[in-house]
Amino acid sequence: MSADQTRIPLVDLAAAHAEVAVEVEAGIARVLATCAFVGGPDVAGFEAEFAAFTGVAHCVGVANGTDAIELALRALGVGAGAGVVMPANTFVATAEAAVRAGARPVLADVDEEFLLLDPQRAAEALAGPVESRALVPVHLNGQLAPMGALRALAEAREVFLVEDAAQCQGATQDGLGPGAWGPRGIAATSFYPGKNLGAYGDGGAVLTGDEGYDLALRELREHGSSRKYVHTRLGFNSRLDTIQAVVLRAKLRRLADWNVRRRAAAARYDALLGGVEGVRTPGTAPGNEHVWHLYAVRVPERDKVLALLNEAGIGAGVHYPVPVHLQPAFRELGYARGDFPVAERSADEILTLPLFPQITAAQQERVAEVLAGAVGGL
Ligand SMILES: *Cc1c(COP(=O)(O)O)cnc(C)c1O
Repeated sequence: MSADQTRIPLVDLAAAHAEVAVEVEAGIARVLATCAFVGGPDVAGFEAEFAAFTGVAHCVGVANGTDAIELALRALGVGAGAGVVMPANTFVATAEAAVRAGARPVLADVDEEFLLLDPQRAAEALAGPVESRALVPVHLNGQLAPMGALRALAEAREVFLVEDAAQCQGATQDGLGPGAWGPRGIAATSFYPGKNLGAYGDGGAVLTGDEGYDLALRELREHGSSRKYVHTRLGFNSRLDTIQAVVLRAKLRRLADWNVRRRAAAARYDALLGGVEGVRTPGTAPGNEHVWHLYAVRVPERDKVLALLNEAGIGAGVHYPVPVHLQPAFRELGYARGDFPVAERSADEILTLPLFPQITAAQQERVAEVLAGAVGGL
C-alpha cells in the first residue's frame, strides 16, 4: 500500500461529493443551459428548504459566512462604535464582521468544559466600559452555546442576540436550532466547503423569524435595493450563487443522515479514546444535539503530538491556534495575554481529529492508535 492510501484526511470532500455527484451534475447542467447564474428558482428553493430544515421562517442566502454576520448586524442597525460581545476563541471572521459593520468586538472568555461563551463572562463584558448592542454566541465545533442563559441575558440587557452558526448546521438545543430563539431571532451561517453543509466555493445565509429583518437583509445583499434601480439604502453585492444553491440543495437532502453518521463517529472516538491517559475527549453540553463539525480533543504538548500525527499521514489540525485578542490584526482592541485564560490555555491544547460522515472504523482506530502512542511517548 502506498503512503497515500493510508493517509487519513481531516475532511474528505471527495467522499461527500460522490454521494451527490449525479444530482449536482444534473443541476449544474440545468443552470448552464439557462445561463441564469445569479438568483432564480434554485436560490429561492434552497432558501425555503433550509429555512424549513432549521425551523425558522426566513432564510436569506449571501456570498459567505463572514458577510452573513456583517449583514445580520447591519440589518439590526448595530454599528458605529457599538460593542458586540463575542467569545475570544472564535475564528477571526466573527470579529472581522463586527469591525466591518462599524462595531467593536468586546471579547469574553468561555467555560472550561465545552469552550462555549460563558454567560457569566458575557454579562461582565456587557457591563464593561464599551456600550454593547449585541451578544454573539459562537456555536463552536457543532454544538450550541448555552442559549437559554444567553437569551435571558440579552433580554435583560436589551441587546440583540446574533448567533454565529457557521459550524452547526442541523444542531439544536432543547429542540431549537439557530435563528429560532424568539420571534426576532437571527443567526448567520457559512457554507464554506468544509462545513457540515458545504458548497463548492463560498456561500452563507442568515436565518431569522422576523419579516422586517428578512426584507432588510434582502436589500443589503442586493445593492440596497428590493426593486430594480430603486436603492433605498447603501448595500452590498453579497448573493449566493445559483450553482452553489444547486449543490446545497442536493447536500441538504443528506445533511440529517450525514449528521447521524458524524455522531456515530464521535461516539466511536469517545469509546476508543475515553480511557487513554492524557487525552481529554470533548463533551456535549446539556440540552444539545451535537452535529460534530469538529472533534477536538485536548492533549499536553499539542504541537509535538500534532506533528507526530501529521508525520503518520493523519490530517489532524487546530481550530484555532491563536485567540482573536492575540491576533496582530486585532491589536488595537487593547487586550493582552492573560485576559482570557480559558481561551488561551485551550488554544495550546486543542487538537482536531479527522471526522466526516464517511470515515471508517478502521480509519478511526488508526487515528486513536497513533494518538495514544504519541501522547504515551511524551
Ligand atoms: C467558517 C466560519 C465563519 C466564516 O465563514 P466564511 O464563509 O468562511 O466567511 C465564521 N465564523 C465561524 C465560527 C466559522 O467557523
